[in-house]
Amino acid sequence: MENYSYLDNAATTVLYPELVETYAKYSCKVYGNPSSLHAYGKDAARALDYSRRLIASSIGAQAKQIIFTSGATEANESIIASATAPAFHALSSKLEHSSVIEALKAHAKDRHKLIGNDADGNLDLEELKSTLAESKENYKLASFILVNNEISTITDYASVAAIIRNSGSKAIFHLDATQAVGKIEIDVSTMDIDALSASAHKFHGPKGVGFLYLKNPAVFKALIHGGGQEFNLRSGTQNIAGICQMAKALSMSASNLKESYDRISSYKNAILDYVKTKPQLKTTISSTTAQSPYILSLCYPKIPSEVLLHRFEERGVLVSSGSACSNNSGSKSGVISNIGINLNENAVIRVSFSRMTGREDIERFIRASDEILERTVF
Ligand code: PMP
Repeated sequence: MENYSYLDNAATTVLYPELVETYAKYSCKVYGNPSSLHAYGKDAARALDYSRRLIASSIGAQAKQIIFTSGATEANESIIASATAPAFHALSSKLEHSSVIEALKAHAKDRHKLIGNDADGNLDLEELKSTLAESKENYKLASFILVNNEISTITDYASVAAIIRNSGSKAIFHLDATQAVGKIEIDVSTMDIDALSASAHKFHGPKGVGFLYLKNPAVFKALIHGGGQEFNLRSGTQNIAGICQMAKALSMSASNLKESYDRISSYKNAILDYVKTKPQLKTTISSTTAQSPYILSLCYPKIPSEVLLHRFEERGVLVSSGSACSNNSGSKSGVISNIGINLNENAVIRVSFSRMTGREDIERFIRASDEILERTVF
C-alpha cells in the first residue's frame, strides 16, 4: 500500500500496534467463553471483568454501568429502542449520525422530533426548551451527538442537561460520544447524562466493538435477547479479544489526552491559517464555535466532492467527502445542508486527525490543496 497521509480518522483510526499481541493472546491462549464455568471460562471472565473496569475508570463510570456492544451503531440503537418502546417519544437533532436518525425512524417512526440548529451546528436550545415545555411527559429520550462527525461542533451538553432537568422531564439524556471518547475529556460522573455511546475503532481500538454507558442499567430494556450476557442487557458471546483491545486502547488514549489534544489543535489551526490566505476556501463553521480539533470540514469551489477527494488522493492525501457512513446510501450530507451550505455550489471535504497524525501530514495536505487550487478549473 502506498504511503499516504491518512486524514480520514473520523471514519476510522489505525489500531495501536501493541494491541495486535493482545488480540493474539485473547484469541489463542485465553480463548474460553466467559460464560463457561471451567478454568478457561474463568480466565476469559476475568479478562472481561478487568476490561470493563478499565473502560469504566477511563470515563468516570462504574463497571456495572458499562455494556459491551458491537459498536456505537448498536449502542445508539439499543438506547433508542429501550427508551421508545412501546410507544414513547424521543427528541434528537438534525445533526445526528445516520445510526441515530435511522434507529429513530425504525423504533419511533412518528414519535420523534428533531430539534433544529444554527449555521454553526449549535443546537437550538430555545426550541429544545419550548418543545419540552409543551409536552415534557411525552419524551422518554433526548439523544444528541457530542462531537459532530462531519463538522466537529461540540454540543453544549451541560446546557442541554439543565434544560431537560429544569423542564421536569424524566427523559433519559443520551450522548452519541463516538467522536469524543479518547479525544476529549469525558467524565460521566460530572456530566449529568444518563447514557453514552462509543466505538473502539475511533480511538485506535479494533472495529466491531464498542460500549454503551448506562447510569441506571435497571431502567434499560435489552434489544438483543438470548443467553443473558452483559447483565441480561445484551446477549451474545462477548468479543473478548476485541473488548480487551478496546479497554487498553481507551486507557492509552486517556492517559495523554491533553498532550494529543493540544498538538492536534495546533495542526487544525495551521490549516485554518492557510484557509484564511485562500479566498476560494472557507470553513463550514465559524472559528468561535466550540469544536473538536480532530475534525475540520472545508468548502472548496464547485466541483464534485468525489473528484476533489481523488485529486487529494493523487497527491498522497486521503480525506473524505462526508461521513463514510453516508457513502453507502449515496445520499448527500444532511448535516452540511442543515447548516445552510449548498452542496450544489460547494465541494465539502472533511479532514480528520488522530494522535498518529504528524506535522508532515498537515504540510502535505496544504501542498496538495495549493496544487489543486492552482490546476483545477472550478
Ligand atoms: N456515531 C457517530 C457520531 C459516528 O461518527 C459513527 C461512526 N462514523 C457512529 C455513530 C457509528 O459507529 P460504528 O460504525 O463504529 O458503529
